[in-house]
Amino acid sequence: MRAAVYYGNRQLEIEDVPEPSASDGRVKVQVSRNGICGTDLHEYYDGPIFIPPSEPHPLTGKAMPLVIGHEFSGVVTDVGRGVTDVDEGDRVAIEPIYRCGHCRPCETGRYNLCTSIGFHGLMADGGMAEYTVVPQDQVHALPDNVPVELGALVEPMSVAYHAATLAEVNDQSRALIYGAGPIGIGVWFALRGLGLTEIDVVEPSPTRRGAIEALGARTLDPSTQDVPALIAEQTGGNGVDAAFDAAGVQPAIESALACIGERRPLISIAIYDKPLSTPLINLVLRERRIQGTICYTGDDYRAVIELMARGHYDLTGWVDTIPLTGVIEQGFEELRAGRRMKLLVDPSA
Ligand SMILES: [Zn+2]
Ligand SMILES: [Zn+2]
Repeated sequence: MRAAVYYGNRQLEIEDVPEPSASDGRVKVQVSRNGICGTDLHEYYDGPIFIPPSEPHPLTGKAMPLVIGHEFSGVVTDVGRGVTDVDEGDRVAIEPIYRCGHCRPCETGRYNLCTSIGFHGLMADGGMAEYTVVPQDQVHALPDNVPVELGALVEPMSVAYHAATLAEVNDQSRALIYGAGPIGIGVWFALRGLGLTEIDVVEPSPTRRGAIEALGARTLDPSTQDVPALIAEQTGGNGVDAAFDAAGVQPAIESALACIGERRPLISIAIYDKPLSTPLINLVLRERRIQGTICYTGDDYRAVIELMARGHYDLTGWVDTIPLTGVIEQGFEELRAGRRMKLLVDPSA
């Protein structure tokens, strides 16, 4: 079968590799679509970062070289012995998290914080291939009306959904999202799914603003608008109930800390490349807080799949599909140049 195999910094080969088979407790999936994530770009241009160069990961036993890809959907073609909940022919979305099951976070149901966490597609052969094999507890069935493109987006949409749930908001809340990339868009969909109607998306790029506006979002341009002044005016000085940082730059953090109300959170989802310096007195004065968020658990997957089944997610204008052979030129290079927002790879093309 064909697969995208990672050999190290700027070394990704589309090559023929042996087809994996379903072992005990595992499920073989024919991959329909695999999304390219910012993490994949980091591994290619700046890595290896998460991919183990030589020491095998404790939960998967795998190190480089390996097949990348952790955001994918597919069809089950075989199940190993002991697999009970999944059948051949099922359409599925994969939850790529390997967890130990016995550290404190795992024991309290927060396995997204597992102390030896691993990812399918970073610490095990992943979904940018015609076939892949995953443990049965990482498989979620997709309803018939959820297409494979949406199925491949359950993973990043669950990252965003989990972030939204940590903000402790309700349908009366007002929220601010910094950044209209795929995760910012995901937070917008998640908040709408939680019933919020008062949401502004702060984004300096006209292309990204245009994309999220076309989905129905209200936007602010921080290069021409004074966002904290505007929010203060519109909320009678109270500020918003939650802000989300899906941008990862200092101006976003500074603006967000000036916009949130007393005792309200800034939910931080971005990957911060460099240390930031920002006056945290804004945090102290009104008992504001910064709350980190990472990944998701099965609960977030189930919530997102249910919203998808209700037609909640619209992919128009921000999601495109490319063939496996084009993963570098049509995929990584285009995303890095900011010419595309979200790309899904079709491993059969
Ligand atoms: Zn990802
Ligand atoms: Zn654990």
